[in-house]
Amino acid sequence: MADVIITTDRTMMSNHHGKEFLGFGATGVPVLFPEKFWLYLFAPKMKNKKGIPWQASYGIRKIEAKLLDSGIDTLVVDPDYLDRYIDNAKVLLLSHHDYFGFGPPSSTFASIFKEEPLNARSFARLMESDTVRRAKNRGIKIIAGGPSAWQWNYRKDLMDKWGIDTVVDGEGEKIVVDLVKKAINNEELPRFVVMNNKDAPTIEEISEIKHASVNGLIEIMRGCIRGCKFCSVTLRALRFYPYEKIEKELQVNYREGVRSGILHAEDVPLYGSLDYIPKTEKLIKLHELTKKYYKTIAWSHASLAAILAGEKNDKMLTRVSEIIKKDQDWWGAEIGIETGSPRLAEIIMPNKAKPFETKNWPDVVVEAAGVMQDAGLVPAMTLIVGLPEETEEDVIKTIELVERLWDFKAIIMPMFFVPMGILKNKDWYRAYELTDTQQELLKLCLSHGVRQGKRILRNYFNEHLYYYLIYPFYWSFIETIERVAKRKGYLISDLSELKINKNKAHPFS
Ligand code: SF4
Repeated sequence: MADVIITTDRTMMSNHHGKEFLGFGATGVPVLFPEKFWLYLFAPKMKNKKGIPWQASYGIRKIEAKLLDSGIDTLVVDPDYLDRYIDNAKVLLLSHHDYFGFGPPSSTFASIFKEEPLNARSFARLMESDTVRRAKNRGIKIIAGGPSAWQWNYRKDLMDKWGIDTVVDGEGEKIVVDLVKKAINNEELPRFVVMNNKDAPTIEEISEIKHASVNGLIEIMRGCIRGCKFCSVTLRALRFYPYEKIEKELQVNYREGVRSGILHAEDVPLYGSLDYIPKTEKLIKLHELTKKYYKTIAWSHASLAAILAGEKNDKMLTRVSEIIKKDQDWWGAEIGIETGSPRLAEIIMPNKAKPFETKNWPDVVVEAAGVMQDAGLVPAMTLIVGLPEETEEDVIKTIELVERLWDFKAIIMPMFFVPMGILKNKDWYRAYELTDTQQELLKLCLSHGVRQGKRILRNYFNEHLYYYLIYPFYWSFIETIERVAKRKGYLISDLSELKINKNKAHPFS
C-alpha cells in the first residue's frame, strides 16, 4: 500500500471517450438532461484495474513521476476506488483543472444558467464523501495543486471544512517532494505555497511520466512569449522539451496501449522558436517523431498569428498537415481570438498578433482561419466577454468578426471574464449581468456553434464502431439545445436576423 495517493474527481479522471474536446462538457451546467447522462456523455468512468486508472491527467502523471523518481511510494487511484487504498496512506494529493468552476468555460455556463457547473459539483461530492472524511479524521494530510490551485484563495472556508493542509499554486516539481516528505513525517506544512518564475524547474528537473496520460497528451514546451494580460501562463519561463524527452513519454503511452495523442504547448507552432515565427523544420521533425507512436494527433493550443506567419513564411501549416493527415482527415486545437477589437487587443494582448500589427488583428484572424480550413485544422476558438476595459463598441467589433467567421468550420466559445472579487461571494455565479450587445454576441456564437457543431460532429465520430454507436447521443444533445434555444429566441438561422448586423462578406462560404 502506497504512502501517497493522488486522485481527482470523476470529471477529471476520465478520458472523455478518447475525445479530449468532450471534456469541455464537464464544465457545463447539467440542464435538459439528468446529471448522470451528462457524466456519461462527457466524463465516463476511466478503464481501470482494481481502481488503478489506465490513464490519468498529465499533471497528475508528472507529479507521480517526480515522487517515484525521488523514491516515494506513490499511487494514482480512481476516485471511485479510493476506499481500497486510502486507509494506509499518509498523504492525499489532489489536482484539478477547475476545482470550483471558476475557470472561464465553467463560470460562463454558471452565469448563464445560474447554477453550479458539473465539475464543481463532482469535486465537492468527492470531498464530502465518507471515504475522504474518514481519512481526514484519521489524520491524512491533504495537499491540493494543479492549474486551478489559485481558486482555493477564494474558498478558504472549504479548505478548513475539507481539511486541506496545503495548496500549491504554480509548477510543483521543485516543492512537491519536500512537502510530501514533511507530510509523511508529520511536520508542519505551509498553508499556501506560490511557485513563481524563479521556482520554475529546468527541463532536467521535470520527470518523465511513468504511466499513460489522458488521451496520450504530452508536453512539448512550457511557457509562452506573448504576455497577454489576462493569462497566468505569461508568468512562466519558456522551456522546450528536447526530442529525446518527448520520445520517452510517447513510448510510455505507446507501451500502455495509447495510440492517439495530443501535443501540449501554449502555442504548438512556436515549438523551438524564440520569436514569433515558427521553425518549420523543427515542427516537421516533431510531428514525424510523434507519428511513429500515435496514429492520430491533435494540438492542445495554437495561436492564429503563428499559424499565419508560418504559412506565409514557408508553408508551415500545409507541410505539417501533410504529416498529420497521413492517417486522419483533420485535427483540432484550442485557439484564442479573445476579441475582434484592435483597440481592446492593444490593451489586453499587445503581442498576440505578432509578427503582424495589432491594428490588423481581425484580418489576421480571418486569414489564419482560411489557412486552417485549407489545411484541415478545426479549432475550438475562445472569446472573452466582459473585460473591465471592454466598451460597447468593442463588443460590436467582436460581433463583426464572428460574422466574418460564420461559415468557418470551428466552435467559437465566448467566455465571461470573472472579476476575482465576485468569487468571494458564494453565489458568484448569479452575479453576472449581460448587456444587450453581449447577448447578441452570445446568440451569434450559439447559432454558429449549433450550425458548425453538426458539421464537425459528422467527422468527429467516424473512426470505429464504438463511435458510431455513441454518435446519436451527441447528435440528439445538439438537436435538443437547438430546439430549446430556438423556442427561447436565442438562435438565428441567418445573419440578417441579428439585431446588430453589419452585413460583412463571408469568406468561408
Ligand atoms: S498567447 Fe495564450 S498562452 Fe500565451 S499569454 Fe496569451 S493567452 Fe496566454
